[in-house]
Amino acid sequence: MTDVAEGIGLAETRALEERYLMRTYKRAPVDFVRGEGALLWDADGKRYLDFLTGISVCSVGHCHPDVVKAVREQSHRLMHVSNLFYTEPMAQLAAQLSDSSLGGRVFFTNSGTEANECAIKIARKHAHGRGVSAPEIVSFERDFHGRTYGALSATPGLATNEALGPMLPGFRSVPRNDAAALREAVGENTAAVLIEPIQGEAGVFPISEEALLAARQACDEAGALLIFDEIQTGVGRTGSLWAYEQTPVRPDVITSAKALGGGFPIGACITGPAAAEVLEPGDHGSTFAAGPVATAAATAVLALVDDPVLLRHVRELGAYLCERLRELDGVRETRGRGLMVGVGLEEGIDSAAVGADLLKRGLVVNAPRPDTLRLLPPLVIDSDHVDQAVGLISESLLGFAQR
Ligand SMILES: *Cc1c(COP(=O)(O)O)cnc(C)c1O
Repeated sequence: MTDVAEGIGLAETRALEERYLMRTYKRAPVDFVRGEGALLWDADGKRYLDFLTGISVCSVGHCHPDVVKAVREQSHRLMHVSNLFYTEPMAQLAAQLSDSSLGGRVFFTNSGTEANECAIKIARKHAHGRGVSAPEIVSFERDFHGRTYGALSATPGLATNEALGPMLPGFRSVPRNDAAALREAVGENTAAVLIEPIQGEAGVFPISEEALLAARQACDEAGALLIFDEIQTGVGRTGSLWAYEQTPVRPDVITSAKALGGGFPIGACITGPAAAEVLEPGDHGSTFAAGPVATAAATAVLALVDDPVLLRHVRELGAYLCERLRELDGVRETRGRGLMVGVGLEEGIDSAAVGADLLKRGLVVNAPRPDTLRLLPPLVIDSDHVDQAVGLISESLLGFAQR
């Protein structure tokens, strides 16, 4: 493909945005118009290597031909009939998600935050079933679970925004990885422990095995549900289909979204047997959820990702990426698993400035905290892509170290 200008361009797009869009996002100064595999092109025709994939959404690469084909074929046949009727792609996808994870039932959504809303409803109703009248949900500090009010109330760092209050009652948090504090916080009123097995938005911090085991044990003793928010860690990102598979615990519920649709919006709340029968007719619903096009896209994604060869590739390439990054001047540490990588920078190097510089050099990453770059490349990249990205990060960091 030739690198040519397309569309109205950044300046005009920006002018429209400034006049018409709510000011909820601080965007980087680039207007993407096209993607293919690990590459993106902006409106000026400049090419980028994408090590962010729309925040771990386009994990099979941009516009993967199998996903494009599934969406194209299904969108010609049937786009929507609502959840008042049966549709085969939804049923097939539910079977695949359940069989590949906890074995219970699935509720589909259009986003990650909605998948967590479903999990919160399940947890509260499950607790009411044990006679708990004021159920509580316990999370770790710096967890991120979403922006709707239930998920927001379970996101300690955002729930403090009083201008958006009041939050939902019944949410509390304990310091990340503090097994003793978690055991202390979980009691007879606890409906669930809702945590990310690796905190993503916080800057890629894996939860320790000790804390996960404490969460499992405390939930078992209290009769509470252990819920893993796998919206960022799931669908192959960490080198197993679900991140919990690489931990010593099995949760009762997992939530998925982001990479599930390969760029098409879809989420899912997936239960094991303990939580499968909690929701009944009238308890929950969604007009759009699990429409034929979204579920066809997700089925195409799972056909690519639920593959031991690809998952091994993710673990091996992730290890190679981290090894190469740790050799660089300016890198203090790497965190994460598989191709979910946080790069801790040396003190005094501002990750946002490095991220902006990398964007100019043609590498897309993000800076979730002032000392960390986050890398979420497509799972289908090869070692040449890794070498290119590491080369660009090395050059960029050299400039910052000299300042
Ligand atoms: C992105 C994310 C969410 C929210 O998903 P949306 O689709 O933006 O609603 C929730 N939890 C985690 C761990 C996430 O990374």
